[in-house]
Amino acid sequence: MKYNSNNKPLVCMMKNSTCYKNTKKMTVKGVLWHSTGANNPNLKRYVQPYETDANYKELIKLIGKNTNGNDWNHIKIQVGLNGWIGKLADGTVASIQAMPWDYQPWGCGSGKNGSCNAGWIQFEICEDGLADKTYFNAVYKEACELTAYLCDMYNLDPYGTTTVAGVKVPVILCHADSYKLGLGSNHGDVLHWFKKHGKTMDDVRKDVAALMNKKTTTSTTTTTKPTTTTSTASTALKFKEGDIVNFVGGKQYASSNATSGSTVKASKAKVTATSKSGKHPYHIRAVNDKGAFISGVYGWVDASTVTVVKSITTTTTTKPTTSTSTSTTSTIAAGTKLALKSVVLYASAYSSKKSGTRTGDFYVWSKEVVNNKIRITNSKANVGKSNQITGWISYTDAKKSISTTTTTTTAKTKTLEDWAREVIAGKHGNGMVKRMASLKKAGCPYSYAKVRAQVNVLIKKK
Ligand SMILES: [Zn+2]
Repeated sequence: MKYNSNNKPLVCMMKNSTCYKNTKKMTVKGVLWHSTGANNPNLKRYVQPYETDANYKELIKLIGKNTNGNDWNHIKIQVGLNGWIGKLADGTVASIQAMPWDYQPWGCGSGKNGSCNAGWIQFEICEDGLADKTYFNAVYKEACELTAYLCDMYNLDPYGTTTVAGVKVPVILCHADSYKLGLGSNHGDVLHWFKKHGKTMDDVRKDVAALMNKKTTTSTTTTTKPTTTTSTASTALKFKEGDIVNFVGGKQYASSNATSGSTVKASKAKVTATSKSGKHPYHIRAVNDKGAFISGVYGWVDASTVTVVKSITTTTTTKPTTSTSTSTTSTIAAGTKLALKSVVLYASAYSSKKSGTRTGDFYVWSKEVVNNKIRITNSKANVGKSNQITGWISYTDAKKSISTTTTTTTAKTKTLEDWAREVIAGKHGNGMVKRMASLKKAGCPYSYAKVRAQVNVLIKKK
């Protein structure tokens, strides 16, 4: 997942809007998607900070200035959303939180059975001309990330439903869905756009669940050992990660212990994670005959729904040839200090695209190796703590980087606190934008949010 308590979406509260001023709090039941229905992908068209916002200048720099004065942060605007997705001033696609998540939005209107405004967090995705696949894919991904973050925060099952006025309402739905259920006004968003790109709200639920799964599966997967030591641990389950199996059809679940699931059709599938203690011990994903992922089952399933096709025996155990070490290390212990030098970081164990590089001292978050990758965290205190994962690095890089701790450390790398003290001392200028740029230039390995959080801690201590 992209967002967590340490990496929240950008915040630009729209405190001048009538909704912000007059709405009430709600108990969150789900997330409802909108799209704007107008060709303007720029967030600045709708989202602007209020004049006295402490970050006003920085936010204007990031979002861009709406010189027409027709943004939605005005008393005359009788609608209000919790969030927005679209392009920042520099063209990158981002999410912006515009009201507290538990403020009732004035979003989908109402129908004969009531309104999803009472309980559903709502965001608008800025539409473009609807034909650009690249833009669509970017906002779709971003919206899934934001929804996964919110489902995780409010403990919502992405496949779940809630009953309102006798109507079963999905946890995740769009404006058009709410209209069909008699819980929203007559609008076609987001389906009129999504169908042009082959996406449905079922795809959304599946993709959100997959993002959330990755987070939960990482703590329950069996360790794939890089060397050929015999593992006795995984014998309890018939299949292991990487096996191609035959899924006979049936329920898939968002987590290995979830109580409700959705029914999916039979297909060939690949085991992508296992959980010995889970009620649904296999996380599988539909594949074609060549083993490539296809749409279909994508979640945790019962052992009874999985049968033999063929077992993949991975023969490539890459062992460094020049190793003179006699001890065959099986895993790297959690908490092991790593001295990273421009090591490639990945957002998940299964992503092949790098999400950045890291230099400096990091720690092995957990000894588990998934898909030949291992999780790292930025401080010893964060080892094993949820939401404290910096990312994944290759197991090979991790082994190469094991810090020898004693005597050899000559050039001291700056700690998070060192960076924070520099910010307090004014070494990185004033304002979020300037500081972000300056820290990046100086090679700060921590996210701006992290440094800022540390600054707050230090200031409070004074
Ligand atoms: Zn709408």
